[in-house]
Amino acid sequence: MDKYGLIGDPITHSKSPRMQTAAIKSAKLNATYQLLNDHGEKLSAIMERLRKSNVAGFNVTTPFKQTIIPFLDELDVTVAKIQAVNTVKNVDGKLIGYSTDGSGFWQSMPEIEKPINVVIIGAGGAAKAIIGAAPLTVNIQVFNRESPAFDEHKAQLAALFGLELQPLSQLLTQLESVDLLINATSVGLHDNVSVLSEADFELLKANALVIDLVYRHAQTSFLEYARKTEHQTMSGLPMLVMQGAHSFKIWHNKIADIKSMELYL
Ligand code: NDP
Repeated sequence: MDKYGLIGDPITHSKSPRMQTAAIKSAKLNATYQLLNDHGEKLSAIMERLRKSNVAGFNVTTPFKQTIIPFLDELDVTVAKIQAVNTVKNVDGKLIGYSTDGSGFWQSMPEIEKPINVVIIGAGGAAKAIIGAAPLTVNIQVFNRESPAFDEHKAQLAALFGLELQPLSQLLTQLESVDLLINATSVGLHDNVSVLSEADFELLKANALVIDLVYRHAQTSFLEYARKTEHQTMSGLPMLVMQGAHSFKIWHNKIADIKSMELYL
């Protein structure tokens, strides 16, 4: 039986085992998908164990998305662009890293028929994945709080994508022309706080779509405020399903049964 799974820390809350197991069952594959490490385990120890056990493939989540790179044998082009990995496939003993977050995000979106203005709040791994896979028709602006990490984020976005990172404090004046507003920060993940206030959403273009990548709670404060101002909203769950479906395709070379995956969210 082929062994697949997830590494990260923490991972006990993850929806991926149930989602991937549903797709494996639907495709009648002889495979398992499980959590592959304990809390506090070192990445080097995890990787040694996974190689020894001849794991067939696995997903990678925080905090290992970047630090796993030196442990891999090859990187797909999707990784070279953003220097983060969320999917690994074992091909004849070679561990190959891929990123499906960006393609998963854009595939979860309604079809984009004309050029749109996109604002991403946050400049971490998820933001970079979305920027790296963005269609040419979107015009992207990225904002981050002025934290100690601001200058590093700014240098990375400039080097990787030629984009100029802007301070979050300057976002409000831009909101009236935004078609798609994305929260790509971790604000709201462990608490019920929103990175923008309810009053900020009053400034947002009337028919803008608001997406919160945080998917632990269906109703985050960020989306609650957006609904109050009658904006369209979408949670991070469709992205979660699509990035998982793309990982499934990489491992099994089969189209995942999205409907069965959605049942287990
Ligand atoms: P990173 O840790 O790489 O980046 C986090 C970002 O959030 C940074 O820009 C950070 O800014 C910002 N941030 C953290 N705290 C605050 C705060 N208090 N105020 C303003 N900004 C803040 O995380 P990821 O990019 O990997 O993930 C971001 C979010 O996206 C998470 O909630 C994650 O769960 C979600 N996600 C969802 C996916 C899905 O399938 N739906 C897939 C991947 C991620 P700074 O560096 O200045 O601290």
